[in-house]
Amino acid sequence: MKANNNKQKREKKTLEVMINLYCQENHNQEYVPCAQCQELFDYAQERIKKCILGDKKITCAKCPVHCFKPEYKDKIKKVMRYSGPKMIYKHPLLAIYHLIDSHSKP
Ligand SMILES: [Zn+2]
Repeated sequence: MKANNNKQKREKKTLEVMINLYCQENHNQEYVPCAQCQELFDYAQERIKKCILGDKKITCAKCPVHCFKPEYKDKIKKVMRYSGPKMIYKHPLLAIYHLIDSHSKP
């Protein structure tokens, strides 16, 4: 349980940083994240929290549950594509990067 919590915390933080970076450089809002990005963050966070595979999850490509709604999946993919390469050297985000990116495969 403890390990799972830490992993989720890390994923949440990674998600937050990536969304903020994307928002900052693409939406030009006074406040980051903007309402739209905040909503996306909240949604993604909920999905991570409720992921039935928890610690056993490797990437969502191997996950039997496709838990992101298409609408949010598209948004989060854009964020990952944009922020992922910029963050790859700074944060241990490969897990979540693969997690989201692998959703694109049928
Ligand atoms: Zn935004």
